[in-house]
Parts: sequence; structure tokens; C-alpha cells
Amino acid sequence: MTILDYTLPTDGLAGCFIDGKWHWPENGARIGIENPSRRDVVCEIGKGGAAEIDLAVAAAKKAHPGWAALAASERGRMLSELGNRLSTHHEEVARLLAAETGNAIKTQSRGEANGAAGVLKYYGGVAVEQKGETLPLGPGLFSYTTREPLGVVGSIIPWNSPLQLGTVKIGMALATGNCLVLKPAEDAPLAVLRLMEMAADIFPPGVFNVVTGIGEEAGAALAQHPGIAKLSFTGSSEVGKLIAHAAADRIANVTLELGGKSPCIVFPDACTPERIDQTAQNVVNAMRFARQGQSCTAGSRLFVHASVWEHLLPRVAEKAAAMKVGDALDDEMDIGAVINEERYGAICSYVAEAEAEGATFLIGETPTATEGGFHPVPTILTGLDNNWRIAREEVFGPVLVALPWEDEAEVVKMANDTHYGLAAFIFSPDMDTVQRMTRQIDAGWIQVNQGGGQIPGMSYGGIKQSGLGSEYSIEGALESYTFRKNVTIGLGS
Ligand code: NAD
Repeated sequence: MTILDYTLPTDGLAGCFIDGKWHWPENGARIGIENPSRRDVVCEIGKGGAAEIDLAVAAAKKAHPGWAALAASERGRMLSELGNRLSTHHEEVARLLAAETGNAIKTQSRGEANGAAGVLKYYGGVAVEQKGETLPLGPGLFSYTTREPLGVVGSIIPWNSPLQLGTVKIGMALATGNCLVLKPAEDAPLAVLRLMEMAADIFPPGVFNVVTGIGEEAGAALAQHPGIAKLSFTGSSEVGKLIAHAAADRIANVTLELGGKSPCIVFPDACTPERIDQTAQNVVNAMRFARQGQSCTAGSRLFVHASVWEHLLPRVAEKAAAMKVGDALDDEMDIGAVINEERYGAICSYVAEAEAEGATFLIGETPTATEGGFHPVPTILTGLDNNWRIAREEVFGPVLVALPWEDEAEVVKMANDTHYGLAAFIFSPDMDTVQRMTRQIDAGWIQVNQGGGQIPGMSYGGIKQSGLGSEYSIEGALESYTFRKNVTIGLGS
């Protein structure tokens, strides 16, 4: 089905794929998917709820023994095949992603479609690494462990990079012999449904199920379902706490990938004449302006040494202000649109509050109500305090707060003075400085002299209220999606 200039899943409009078949929700409910750049409803899809979650969990439970018994290499082969199909269709999927998320095709959605294919191929390749250990318990005993799948995994993902996060959940769960019920975000389920369409004839029925629906209905039903052995959630810390409670109520395994307010710390030696331009660009990249700041790892608190403040800030401002903002499907645009009216409104109120408190706009403005696409411009605020709400809470918009520092102990204290602990960025060519800082900064992922995205193979996860457990790697998959079974054999008895 083609609407405007991108292709939509055909059968996938049912919104749910259960037990090897597309399934329209029994109560006939629908969700309209809006393009946040163009503000048109792209399509309506089925809106699943508790009934569809029940069916999907039952199908996954039925499929689990057969799936877990397959050779790991066979499971890996199927994941790699899905990755290959996604690579073949990456441009079409990138357009879908740009249309539903508002993430610019040029800087974001194309990279996400390719990156997601890479995630599937990575897990396809490492599936065979589900190894156990042998234990030297003493003469007469042969003891070993195996890594066993947990059963049915329930995964809930957000809208900001739905395909990448969807493939991480698919790769980790399926490679390790679990079956999956995946609930995409209600704002951006289409690329995941297109992927499901490609997967339909690869995996046996029931192994990989998708139920689209809103959080309070389908999401809550999945979180609370007694048939789910493990919950893997990516989203806000607020909803993450509800998921953790639901898991605690029945002692289910849980992985949480939550929000962040990541510090970006610049030392004077990163701003020499030879380095300053690259440092400024890395700060812009780390802030994820190209994703409207809608990234959990955005380096949204910039701490610049006072001695280089006057040199670095204008360069960062110049680079951010030069980025073109507009229709996410337009290949000329660097930045697309914020996902929906609610998020846009939240960004407006954060910036308006900071302005009222006396913050200075280095670039940008308080966004105003819009009739057109949700397109706030990159905004950099100075003249504020680390205790202000805008410096403490996750704005999830293109808003960078910049604060000067003079003393290293002071900047470490400011950087760690947050309930989040997802990511951090440090800029200095001096490896002694880097070592000292990486030891002291509380974050699950620290990038030094760069501001890139996650790469399959790295163990990625947050501390404090940014999450529990890690994903993206085979180690993460083994720790989070399997349990160790120990077998001890008495020899010669
Ligand atoms: P969100 O928490 O509102 O929603 C995420 C998912 O949870 C959606 O699928 C939603 O339908 C579902 N949900 C909502 N309420 C629910 C409930 N009561 N029970 C069960 N499920 C429910 O988050 P969002 O606004 O979609 O995404 C943005 C957030 O995600 C940000 O905080 C961002 O930092 C975080 N995020 C974290 C990572 C990471 O890897 N740490 C990656 C991407 C996004």
C-alpha cells in the first residue's frame, strides 16, 4: 500500500502478528499514525489490547520448546536472513521510519535502517556463543553449566529509534532460544511491522509475535502477563518503574533501558586551534541535534572549561544553527520533527520556564504552538544553574544547556549530581585526564573525543535510574536473557 511517497506494510496494517498470521484486533479498535513533519495521518492500523497479548503469549509459549531445541546456528541463520532482507529493503524502510518518527532520512533514518540490519546480522553470527562452563569441583565429580533460555520474553519499545531497538530485542531474545512478544510504540510501529512482514516466512509460527497498542492497554497487559518470563523495556524512567513493579510482583526477570541527562565535559586541551573545530562538531553530534535531541544518550548538559568558553561556544552555536530543519523525508534536511504534540508542548514549557528564570539564548527560541510540523530549532541556553529543572530533567528535545567550570572536582560533582547514569562524553587528548575522569563519572557508557551511536558488540546499559542490565552484546544477551543451569555428575558411582 503506497501513501504519499513511501510504502506501507500491507497485511501489517492489522497491527498484530500472532502465531504466524496477521491478526486484526477483535474489538475493531484502530490507531491513526501521524507523520509529525507533515501532520497528516499516514494510515490507521489495528490497536491491540489485552486479548491480543493473551493470544500472542499463548502462541509464544507453544512455540518455545521447539525453538529452544533448535541448534543455535540455525536460530542464528534465521536472524542473519532477516538482517539480509532488511539490508535489501533498507531505503524503503528508512522512508517509513522518517515518515512515522519525524527523524530526518538524511542524517537518521537511513542510518537506523542499516544499523538495525547490522544488529540482526550481529546476533545471527554470535548465536553460537551461548556457551556454558565446566567446573573443577574435585575428583569424582563432573560439573558443568549450560545457558538456558528463560521462556517467553515481553519487550516494549519507544518511538525514538523503533527499528534499531526492535532489532536489539529480537536479536537478543531469539538468538538465545527465547520466544518474543514485541510491543512497538503506538506513535511509530510501521517500520517494525514492515520488518515483521519480512520475518513472517523465516521463523516458525509463534516464535516472534508483534502486538501494536497503547501503553496503558497492550503495554500494561504484557508487563503484567503471568506467562511472560522476562520483561525487556526501553523507554522513560517513569514507565520503567511501573514495569519493574509488575516484574517484582511475580519475580520475573527484567531489563530496563531508560532515560538520561548525560554530561558532556570539555577540557581546555580539546580546544587548541587544531582541535577546536572537531570538538565543536563532536559536541553537536553528542547532543543529537540531528535527532531533535530525542535520544536517551544525548549529551544535553555541556560543561565547558571557563578558559575556553568564549572560543568553543560560538563554534558549537554556529554548527548547530547551520543545520537545516524541515520535512524528515526531504533529503536536504539535517533535522526533522519532534514526535507529537505532547512532546512538542513539553519542550516548549521547559524552554519557557528557563527563559522566565533568566536563561540566555545563545541560539534558538522558545518554540511556539504550531499548525504545521513539530519543528523546534536547535537551542543552546547559558546563564543558568545546574539545579534548574531544564538542567536536571530529560527535555527530549533539541535543547542544550551550557555551564562553565574551573575546577575538575567541581565538574565531576556537577556531572554526577543527577539521578540518571546512562552516558557521558569527555573531550581531552590527554589520556591521564581521560582515565581520571572515566573512573569518576557515573555512567554506563562513556565516549571520549567522539559523539557516536551504539555499535553491536558493546555492552550498553545505564546505572542509577537510567536502567538495569545491558543490551547490544552477546554478554548482555547471556546475562539478561538466559539463566545458568548447573549439572553435577558423580563419576564412577
Ligand atoms: P515511554 O516510556 O512513554 O513509552 C515507551 C513504551 O512504553 C511505549 O511502547 C509505550 O506504549 C509503553 N508504555 C507506556 N505506558 C506504559 C504502561 N503503563 N505499561 C506498559 N507500557 C507502557 O517512552 P517514550 O516517550 O516512548 O520514549 C522516550 C523515552 O525512552 C526517553 O525517556 C528515552 O530516554 C527513553 N529511551 C531509552 C533508551 C535506552 O536505551 N536507555 C533508548 C531509547 C529511548
